[in-house]
Amino acid sequence: MDNDSTTIARLRTTVILMSGSDIKKKADSNHTKKGFTGSLLEMSSINKVLKNVKVRAHVERCFMYCVRQAAENSEKLASDLKKIVQHLYGDHSTCGTWCKSESIDYKPNNLPYGKPLTSEPLRLDLEKLFQKYAGKASELVFMGSTQVNKKINHEFPARHLKDCE
Ligand SMILES: [Zn+2]
Repeated sequence: MDNDSTTIARLRTTVILMSGSDIKKKADSNHTKKGFTGSLLEMSSINKVLKNVKVRAHVERCFMYCVRQAAENSEKLASDLKKIVQHLYGDHSTCGTWCKSESIDYKPNNLPYGKPLTSEPLRLDLEKLFQKYAGKASELVFMGSTQVNKKINHEFPARHLKDCE
């Protein structure tokens, strides 16, 4: 009896501790995505192609894909993030598996006229932005775990996380 209840108590503590860190991860994920989106918005005041919400969403999706696919490998994430800008500008020679350019008829449909980006000043700004996130890769990798996100969405619906968002 005693042993059992100790075990249960210990399990409970572990579950609570784990949930706590899961919540933190989820909050970090929202926070990071928001930070990234915010940076793109800020950049849109100078780079007018970013005023297009579809373009911003596309860049953000590339970013989130990389984060999710990197699992917990921060080196992979850092190197993938640095390749996104090339991808956006139509060079897919170094793209990872997140890129769909290998499928026939690939067109970046969400970019203006379905064509890669062309603005050079924007390119420099994007490179700076992704460089910044590549530098934080080791903090970003944990938010990529979909299992954690699924679990947390199920157990803690969004409204409970309001304070974190
Ligand atoms: Zn690509």
